[in-house]
Amino acid sequence: MIEFSILGSGSRGNATLVRVNGHSFLFDCGLSCKQVELRLEAIGVDPSSIDALFLSHEHTDHIRSAHTFLKKYNVPLVTTEKTYIAGGLKDKKINQVEFVKSGKVFSQFKGVDVFFLPLSHDAADPVGFVIYSGGIKFAIVTDLGFATELVVQELKQCNGIIIEANHDPQMLKLSSYPWEIKQRIASRMGHLSNGDCARLLERVVSDATESIVLAHLSEENNNPDIALMNVMRVIKGLPLNIYVASQHKPTPLFLVDSVSDIKENV
Ligand SMILES: [Zn+2]
Ligand SMILES: [Zn+2]
Repeated sequence: MIEFSILGSGSRGNATLVRVNGHSFLFDCGLSCKQVELRLEAIGVDPSSIDALFLSHEHTDHIRSAHTFLKKYNVPLVTTEKTYIAGGLKDKKINQVEFVKSGKVFSQFKGVDVFFLPLSHDAADPVGFVIYSGGIKFAIVTDLGFATELVVQELKQCNGIIIEANHDPQMLKLSSYPWEIKQRIASRMGHLSNGDCARLLERVVSDATESIVLAHLSEENNNPDIALMNVMRVIKGLPLNIYVASQHKPTPLFLVDSVSDIKENV
């Protein structure tokens, strides 16, 4: 089984806890170190129990306190070499680093396989993560301008999916953001809109899907009700847990077990 909680998500900081077989992994560390600690404690996880930190890309909202956390808790960092360099971590003498190439699997780390899924986003080498353990498949996919065929294929048969629903195109158009930023967000190297997210889910959701969490919502250009409405329209009738992650507080600790395996055995 896999347990997870999004500690916070949005343009002001992202971090997700994933627990597998008694091991705890942090995916991105874009909140302040204090907030990561407080939010881990709020869901009953001791920050010193983290076994590794995975980084998706070098944007500040994903790596803000990575160096502080790594130093304080002396845990290994797992990321691509390009993200490591672009994030300025090379100069900071990190004790333990494992480099994984985008498109490859980081295999058999404490009983877990993690596929580094290449994404289309304006960073040096941005990736999402597909985590495999004991027949369960779980994906974290945020910060992408559009979904490639590889993304579609990788999200199929996932039991749990954290997916970006960044903005409502109309709200973005009318917002106070400068034109260049609006262009960047809406581009194929930017972020998924609610509609993009819904169309992607429509292609990948199946009986195997248990839980979906919408993440990286813009506080200015989106709201949870609009994001949910878009997604509910395409996954109507399926018995799924759907939740919207918040910038300001952690989600509950969700459990993903292998429902699809059980069904196959019946
Ligand atoms: Zn981001
Ligand atoms: Zn980003």
